[in-house]
Amino acid sequence: MTDPSQYVRERHNDGTRDVRWPVAPEPLPVPVYDNHAHLEIADGDEPLTLDEQLERAAAAGVIGVVQAGGDIDSSRWSAWAAASHPRVLAAVAIHPNEAPAYQAAGELDAAIAVIDELAAQPRVRAIGETGLDFFRTEEDGIPAQFHSFEAHIALAQKHGIAMQIHDRDAHEAVLETLRRVGAPERTVFHCFSGDDAMARVAAEAGYYLSFAGNLTFKNAQNLRDALAVTPRDRILVETDAPFLTPIPHRGRPNAPYLVPLTVRFMAAELGADLDELCAQLAENTLAVYGPFED
Ligand SMILES: [Zn+2]
Ligand SMILES: [Zn+2]
Repeated sequence: MTDPSQYVRERHNDGTRDVRWPVAPEPLPVPVYDNHAHLEIADGDEPLTLDEQLERAAAAGVIGVVQAGGDIDSSRWSAWAAASHPRVLAAVAIHPNEAPAYQAAGELDAAIAVIDELAAQPRVRAIGETGLDFFRTEEDGIPAQFHSFEAHIALAQKHGIAMQIHDRDAHEAVLETLRRVGAPERTVFHCFSGDDAMARVAAEAGYYLSFAGNLTFKNAQNLRDALAVTPRDRILVETDAPFLTPIPHRGRPNAPYLVPLTVRFMAAELGADLDELCAQLAENTLAVYGPFED
């Protein structure tokens, strides 16, 4: 096997984006964590090393990152990053958009077996991102997504770790699958994309809702409505970096050091005290993934 520390993925760039790193926001008064990022993806005018990412984040009051995988290589990298850095925990999975290709190659079950192995590592604290994506997948790929999602749910339960769900245009099918198969004890909707009605259903079931930078987008009133009805002890914050950069830097590269923009927006939206909200977000993160320090 090649050295996972050397793995890098280039962000596809169409040449029309402004790829300069946004200026660092004012640090948060109470430290929080980025619940979902893809730090193996190189973006920006000057790509940042993992150490630089974590230093910038810590300087902004973001003292840990849950690094999420989506295929074998990025999951191996995530596990390596978590094993090597006290400020990183890992989530590992075959992404719903990757599952059909593995299936077509006859390799899906073998890939899930690799995820099973990685999930046994002590700093791999979630299976993710897994779920369903009806937006980017052709209809003939849907059965592979269901097969993969259900197998990943079983892995989260087997290892007693959390699960990060990727749900794109598949709200009902995801909720129905969780009801049918049985959800892991700590189930997170990463980059929650539903509305207030779905947020109520999810919170009632005890799921966590992780809000990304798109919470700040003008057209995302559904997310703000969802946030408003989510119990405080079920709210998480994430970047999904390098994607979904919050305003006023939408379109530019995203990174954990930009979490304060989303958290301040959240506090204003909720009319919440910033210190209290930060403390709550940190507590929720640790409740889902456990401690970052060994
Ligand atoms: Zn996702
Ligand atoms: Zn993601």
